Amino acid sequence: MARVPCLRGMFDDPASLPTIGFTGRAANTWDLERDDGGLKHSALVSTLFSLVLESDGAGDRLPWASTNSLLEGVRQLRPQYGNRENDAGDVFLFLLGVLNITGDKSKPLVLGETTLARLAADQENRIKQGLLLKPLEEEVEEQLCGFLETGNDSTITDLFGIQVVRESVCRVDDCISPFSRSWEVSLCLLLSWPRDENRKIIKQVCGVPELLRQWQTELFAGLGSNDDDALGLQGRECGADLDHPRRRLAERKITRTPKVLAMRVERAMGEIGEIKGDLLDREDVIKNPLHLEEYLDLHQFCAFQLPSEQAYGDSGIHRKLLTMYRIAAVIQWQGRHYKTFARVPD
Ligand SMILES: [Zn+2]
Repeated sequence: MARVPCLRGMFDDPASLPTIGFTGRAANTWDLERDDGGLKHSALVSTLFSLVLESDGAGDRLPWASTNSLLEGVRQLRPQYGNRENDAGDVFLFLLGVLNITGDKSKPLVLGETTLARLAADQENRIKQGLLLKPLEEEVEEQLCGFLETGNDSTITDLFGIQVVRESVCRVDDCISPFSRSWEVSLCLLLSWPRDENRKIIKQVCGVPELLRQWQTELFAGLGSNDDDALGLQGRECGADLDHPRRRLAERKITRTPKVLAMRVERAMGEIGEIKGDLLDREDVIKNPLHLEEYLDLHQFCAFQLPSEQAYGDSGIHRKLLTMYRIAAVIQWQGRHYKTFARVPD
């Protein structure tokens, strides 16, 4: 974190050292579970800020006691983290979440519905009445504002927030309202490996663009149990007519690219998109090598047309987005150690 330029700026600005206040996060009180008043969150963030400064004079490694103090602070909130394969990405994402919670400046929500709930109800009504969905470009800003107001108005969201829209299409040709849309802003893209028809991970080397191309299509089938499949219950129902066959897949498009792109690659079976017993079983580690290029261009994932755009016209959203990224740092677990590689500034 200390070596990634725009992120480093946040740690260098003492005014960004946050406190927990009463914000729109009230809707997500589970975030502060086990931490009344947010004291443990604040202490952890202070430790992280001081470690970043300490790392300046520490060469390529911090003393054990320093990194351990960070892990202790993490364990105060999430006791399950030890030294396991999937922890490196997990702890990183957890720390981003803590920085987001503690840095949130959103206003307390007044009673009544949130923007996100209002937008969801509006879409539901349009679909039931067979009206066109709102233009995609209009929804981008509204959805982002709705996300910010519910406890995510922070420097971390500004730097890392990646907004994704998903669309699915009804399988009935003359459906009065065939398109359905959902939105998500996250701080990190979770990428999983290609699977065969039995949902087993295929052993192969992949590059990030290949994993992203797979991420672009989401299969609804396969997420439920076999019983559900036999009963024809897998997939998403059609909002216009419940008798229409369930939708099996959705397509994703990126509508906001972040200043810092964080990605996490599935390394333990069951980590992403499915639930499966004990994640810490060593046999379940995914050893597929990841091929990393220095540059990554997200253009194709921002410019590609969703089904509603193919029908109503291109939204043009991608023309406003910066899509080229250069690798800054990698965290990985190797031989029971976490290793971090960061690019030295030019
Ligand atoms: Zn339908």
